[in-house]
Amino acid sequence: MVNALKLKIKTLPFGTHTVECHVDESFFNTEEQIEVRRADVNVTLEVTRKSEDTFHLEISCSGTVTVPCDRCLDDLDLPVDVDYSLNVEQMGTELDDTNDELLIVPSDWRELDAAPIVRDTVLLSLPMTHCHENEDDCNAAVLGVLESHRVEAVPDVDDQQSETTGTDPRWEALKKLKEQ
Ligand SMILES: [Zn+2]
Repeated sequence: MVNALKLKIKTLPFGTHTVECHVDESFFNTEEQIEVRRADVNVTLEVTRKSEDTFHLEISCSGTVTVPCDRCLDDLDLPVDVDYSLNVEQMGTELDDTNDELLIVPSDWRELDAAPIVRDTVLLSLPMTHCHENEDDCNAAVLGVLESHRVEAVPDVDDQQSETTGTDPRWEALKKLKEQ
């Protein structure tokens, strides 16, 4: 939990306030989304209370997250450098987060936890596929094993069923590789 990101919106004085914090992998591994092995990200959040029930957030994140490479499963460091700004308005009784630029929160909320917003800002800034840029940088031993067991044709339904009950030969081969 990153308490610094819990904004006390009812009692926040008018004007701009800056919150700075550092987040690690535990901050990102709260939901399924993607596997973050390590994270070292500095977060700066500027919150401006513009009126009784309107706020503006400026989020800036920089650092590194480490995820598994899609190709070889080894660690892959991805740089993080992203800014995001968002208006927040308190009204009604329903949360509405469907708009990218305006978040509507119920008027009786005393606190707004900006952690999920910061988390999504960082995760959405990452490239869709995470691979070592050059295949040469990938773990060659793992690639070799995967290559030698590549499935030639799309398996039919029966094959898929047997695959879920049996052991995938690729993982067996990887296990052997690790034991060497
Ligand atoms: Zn790789």
